[in-house]
Amino acid sequence: MRQVIIIGSGPAGYTAAIYAARASLQPLLVASSVEAGGELMNTTEIENFPGFPEGIQGPELMMKLQEQAERFGTEVLYDDVTELKLDGDVKTVTLGNGQVHEAHTVIFATGSAYRKLGLHDEERLSGHGVSWCATCDGFFFKEKTIAVIGGGDSAMEEATFLTRFASKVYVIHRKDTLRASKIMQDRAFANEKIEFIWNSEVAGITGADAVDGVTLRSTTDGTETHLPLGGLFIAIGNDPRTHLIHGQLELAPEGTIAVKGRSSKTNLPGVFAAGDVIDPTYRQAITAAGSGTIAALDAEHYLADLEQATGEASAIGEAQTAGRPQPADPVLTTTV
Ligand SMILES: Cc1cc2nc3c(=O)[nH]c(=O)nc-3n(C[C@H](O)[C@H](O)[C@H](O)COP(=O)(O)OP(=O)(O)OC[C@H]3O[C@@H](n4cnc5c(N)ncnc54)[C@H](O)[C@@H]3O)c2cc1C
Repeated sequence: MRQVIIIGSGPAGYTAAIYAARASLQPLLVASSVEAGGELMNTTEIENFPGFPEGIQGPELMMKLQEQAERFGTEVLYDDVTELKLDGDVKTVTLGNGQVHEAHTVIFATGSAYRKLGLHDEERLSGHGVSWCATCDGFFFKEKTIAVIGGGDSAMEEATFLTRFASKVYVIHRKDTLRASKIMQDRAFANEKIEFIWNSEVAGITGADAVDGVTLRSTTDGTETHLPLGGLFIAIGNDPRTHLIHGQLELAPEGTIAVKGRSSKTNLPGVFAAGDVIDPTYRQAITAAGSGTIAALDAEHYLADLEQATGEASAIGEAQTAGRPQPADPVLTTTV
């Protein structure tokens, strides 16, 4: 039986592992079979993770986080969790290879996935002009002409934010009206650097080594045109990876896992969640790492309470066996 199993190997999972391992909890971390390291494995330069003044490549950062977690005794398994049973004092975690692991606590850190357009060149040019995160990458697009795809609040927010760097920002939208709230629309409409391209979808992304434009297709008559660009931001939504816990953990209205206040505590005792899977707003590597810290500390406190309660229970058992009088009103429940 494990003290703690961590699911996910992004900044949230590895940071939770570093803290849990340093607390001598010998965590097991299930990293995923093909996506170990999380979202940052798909990117190049990270310039906003504190401690790396020259920046660091995404995969290198994740390798360092893993090394740090393993140094203190984290065991990493490269497999996917396929099934979870999270109620009760003993949680069971089933892996793709059929192994079943048991633990007193589970930290769920499976992240979230940006929605993709599904275009052939999208992956190829990811990190080379195609981005899903203005906060992360806006800085790289100084004085360039770029485009944001989408019509919701995040698309308006990204477009407005990107005008700090880019010389011009097109917003490409499939319809002739926006889904975004009025205030976000007004802000975007008032910005001189933003121009809207209505009733259009991106049919292709062009560029040999980096984005040099997109092929636009009219959603009204199907005609195609080429728009030269220095970068493309895709802001069509984000899906927290929660399918494994549906029916077991409560979700927030945004689809993320609901946690209590500033903690990582879910609706089930002993089950904690961290990183982008609980975060509809910030979704940064450092916020995910901070969230992983909270989850490890919450798990540690839960285990300490559990141990104390178990100790009290066995002390009461021994007292009964010895025929001694029982303490009044013994408290055997755990606090979460
Ligand atoms: C292209 C790109 C560039 C970015 N650039 C930056 C940047 O410059 N700076 C910045 O701060 N942020 C950046 N971000 C955002 C950052 O990557 C995320 O905020 C951060 O990775 C979230 O960490 P996480 O640990 O919550 O989740 P993730 O990094 O998404 O990790 C989740 C992990 O859980 C695993 N997992 C999921 N399901 C299972 C399962 N069933 N079994 C086992 N494992 C599972 C996944 O495979 C993955 O390893 C970028 C994101 C993208 C997509």
